[in-house]
Amino acid sequence: MSRKVYLDHAATTPVRPEVAEAITRYMVEEFGNASSIHSFGRAARKGLEEAREHVASLIGADAREIIFTSGGTESDNMALKGVAEACRQRGKHIITSKIEHHAVLHTAEHLEKEGFEVTYLDVDSDGLIDPDDVRRAIRDDTILVSVMFANNEVGTIEPIGEIGKICKEKGVVFHSDGVQAVGSIPIDVNELGLDLLTISAHKMYGPKGVGALYVRKGTKIAPIIHGGAHERGKRAGTENVAGIVGFGKAAELARIEMDERQNHLLPLRDRLIRGILERIDDVKLNGHPTKRLPNNVNVSIMYVEGESMLLNLDMMGVAASSGSACTSGSLEPSHVLLAMGVPHEVAHGSLRMTLGSANTEEDVDYVIDCLEEIVKRLRAMSPLATTRKG
Ligand SMILES: *Cc1c(COP(=O)(O)O)cnc(C)c1O
Repeated sequence: MSRKVYLDHAATTPVRPEVAEAITRYMVEEFGNASSIHSFGRAARKGLEEAREHVASLIGADAREIIFTSGGTESDNMALKGVAEACRQRGKHIITSKIEHHAVLHTAEHLEKEGFEVTYLDVDSDGLIDPDDVRRAIRDDTILVSVMFANNEVGTIEPIGEIGKICKEKGVVFHSDGVQAVGSIPIDVNELGLDLLTISAHKMYGPKGVGALYVRKGTKIAPIIHGGAHERGKRAGTENVAGIVGFGKAAELARIEMDERQNHLLPLRDRLIRGILERIDDVKLNGHPTKRLPNNVNVSIMYVEGESMLLNLDMMGVAASSGSACTSGSLEPSHVLLAMGVPHEVAHGSLRMTLGSANTEEDVDYVIDCLEEIVKRLRAMSPLATTRKG
């Protein structure tokens, strides 16, 4: 019973040893400031620009279109606030969805206070956004559409290509929060018609505190951090060279291992889903059954509290989540599940398990056993469960 199973890769991933090695080298040996003209500076600059190539190549972009940031949250802020400021003369309307990460939702709410108007699109019961809703919501004064690539809680993959086509047709800038998708599924910004794409290193086996915003050539965006002329004048501050080099390594590995990782994760994901549905009664899978991230399992287990399941799983060495890491610990049910029409009491019994490279079939079988036992125990104590069948 000393097994440890980490099933919270949507919250963060371990750093790959190759990545850690690259980071150490750029902290200890190639420690120069990338803006310095001497050999130390040039060595740092070389590492930085190689990393830019790797990140760009993962999403089919040009290296000059990659701006390094402090992570997904900053990239989302930069996309929304940067476009809002650059385009405020043209219009004040922004479109996003009800299931975005708080980095987008709270930024949109902030912009509303600044005088912008925001439309929050609904989703269906699988968490899917209807591209026709995007088309209908676009007005003459719409300056930005921001729709996440794949949801961090339920794993649903949105119809980004279709939305991109509509935005292009209407001449509206299109941003996507790709934090959960980039590195996990194949993405080509040109095929999909993306103008801005948010990426975070620590969700793809890179370090925390590093990310990027892809900015299509010609897209107007104002800086949100002012200072030196770093990152083509779009993001001031001495570059986190070591972190960025680690991010580059993580991006390179993700590109090379993309198929291999999917082939590893998909059967594990489906084994976990099948096991839970077969062995536990009154369970519902949240999120789209097939348009779904290869590592995401999200279930609502009736008549039990998500938090109780988490604590019990933790005691058995299993790390999962009851939604997003940011809402865990609060008693508010997930805004994503509520937007999908999941009733409050069902949303409270939700569990997110996100797989990663190191997970095995044995892990999955162990977790199914643990969960079956925990649910049996919790339901035996639950007044809701004892009365449920009359
Ligand atoms: C984790 C996450 C973020 C935030 O990224 P950080 O690098 O942790 O700031 C944004 N959006 C989504 C969808 C995420 O999963």
